[in-house]
Amino acid sequence: MKRQIKKWTLRLTVTGLFIAGLLLVIVLNPILTYAYKTTHNTYNIYHSKPLDSTLFTSLDQAAELLQTSEFYNPKLHLDICLNDGSKYPKLIRALRGQAFAWGFYDKVVLQGTANFADNYIELNGYKWNLTQLLAHEMTHCLQFDKLGFWKSNPVAKIPNWKWEGYAEYLSRQGMDQKDLSVNLARLFATDKNNWEIKFDDSTIAPREYYDYWTLVQYCMDIKKMTYNHILLDTTNEQNVRQEMMNWYENNKSERTTSY
Ligand SMILES: [Zn+2]
Repeated sequence: MKRQIKKWTLRLTVTGLFIAGLLLVIVLNPILTYAYKTTHNTYNIYHSKPLDSTLFTSLDQAAELLQTSEFYNPKLHLDICLNDGSKYPKLIRALRGQAFAWGFYDKVVLQGTANFADNYIELNGYKWNLTQLLAHEMTHCLQFDKLGFWKSNPVAKIPNWKWEGYAEYLSRQGMDQKDLSVNLARLFATDKNNWEIKFDDSTIAPREYYDYWTLVQYCMDIKKMTYNHILLDTTNEQNVRQEMMNWYENNKSERTTSY
């Protein structure tokens, strides 16, 4: 009996390892599940339908946003995987959960429904600016490229506000997004029960990410910290938020008195 159990445990382990290995091969090689590959600068775009070339403009704009990062690497080659019929995005969703997109290793995988002409991705009735979403996910690839597997999330367990907040900080560089006071005012003016915060172009950011973004923006724009410095700094999230709120309140009263 004992020998029988051992045999089955071994068989199940081998089968499990085989399936995990197979999944890894598919995840690392999107070409296996896509009909086409189109190259644009340092990007390999994987798609199943003819490509809408307006995507190139969004990619170029996203690349420009990334150039403001101390982690920027012009030689970094990325795979951009579209959600236009391939099973690949569905596999990533099954492995990692529902999202507008995922960025990991050297891959950006779009989920949701893309409207390339109007530059957004729609998911559950919410729109995320496509250029900014690409830049957000590419930031995760930059973090991975610079920090390596062991010092990146999910392995390194870097606090989410630092990991996601930086991706938001780099990608949200629109005209209505550059000023921290304005961004905080928008946050506080939004109903607390709302899951999302809306921008001028009617695209959104999830409130949680928006909050993380303001913390990173405070550290970088106001305190003039580098991202490396933020990663090393041990001040906890709550204390950074408190400090930011003090700055915001002081700044607000100064602004009102100067009018
Ligand atoms: Zn992210």
